[in-house]
Amino acid sequence: MPSPASERASGATNPPGSALPRPGTPEDALRRLQEGNQRFVAGAPLHPNQSLELRRQLAGSQQPFAAVLGCSDSRTSPELAMDAGIGDLFVCRVAGNIATPEEAASLLYSQAVLGTDVILVLGHDNCGAVKAAIEVADGKMPPGEFGPLTEPIRPAVAEARRFGATGDALLHEAVTANVRLVVEALPRMSTGLAQAVRSGELTIHGGVLTLATGKIDMLS
Ligand SMILES: [Zn+2]
Repeated sequence: MPSPASERASGATNPPGSALPRPGTPEDALRRLQEGNQRFVAGAPLHPNQSLELRRQLAGSQQPFAAVLGCSDSRTSPELAMDAGIGDLFVCRVAGNIATPEEAASLLYSQAVLGTDVILVLGHDNCGAVKAAIEVADGKMPPGEFGPLTEPIRPAVAEARRFGATGDALLHEAVTANVRLVVEALPRMSTGLAQAVRSGELTIHGGVLTLATGKIDMLS
C-alpha cells in the first residue's frame, strides 16, 4: 500500500493542463459532480482534464476529488455521466452498486490515502441487479451463482415493498432504497470512513441516474 506522500499528487493541487481546477471542499466537490451531470444531460460535455500533457503528469500520482460506488451497467459510466477526466474520480463499480467489504476498503483508500472529499453512491433506473433481487425475493428465480449480488439487495426490496409498490414502481423504490441503504452502510463498515464523516473531511451522498435523460437525482 503506497503511503499518502508517495501516492498523492505533490505540491499544487491543480496540475498544469487541467481544464478545471480541483475542488477543495466536500461542498465544492459535490457541486462539481452536479455541474458535470448538468453538462452531460444537456449534451454539452467539456471533456475536461483529458489532455495528453495532464495524462503524463498524473502518471506518478493522483488526487481524485470524488469517489463513486456505481453499478457495472454499461450505460452508467461515472466519468461520462458527470463529465469528468483523468484523475478526477476514484470509481468502484459492481453490479447493483452494493457495499462489499472490498468496495468499502477501496473507498476508504480513496479518502484516507488519496484525499477524496466526497463519495457518491450511484444507482440507476432499470437496474438488472435490483430486478434480479426482486425476482429472487418473489421466488421467480433461484439466486444460484448470482446470490452474492442479489442477497445484499434483498433488504432494499423488502423496504420498497413496505410502500406497497409493484411492477416498475417497486423497481424504482428498490433502486432508491438500495442506494440509501448503501450510503448508510458505508460508515458502519469502515471506522475510517465514519471518522472522516464526523470530522467533516468527507461527505457521502446517494444519487439515482435516469438512463434516458442522463440526469442524476440526488437523494439528499
Ligand atoms: Zn445496475
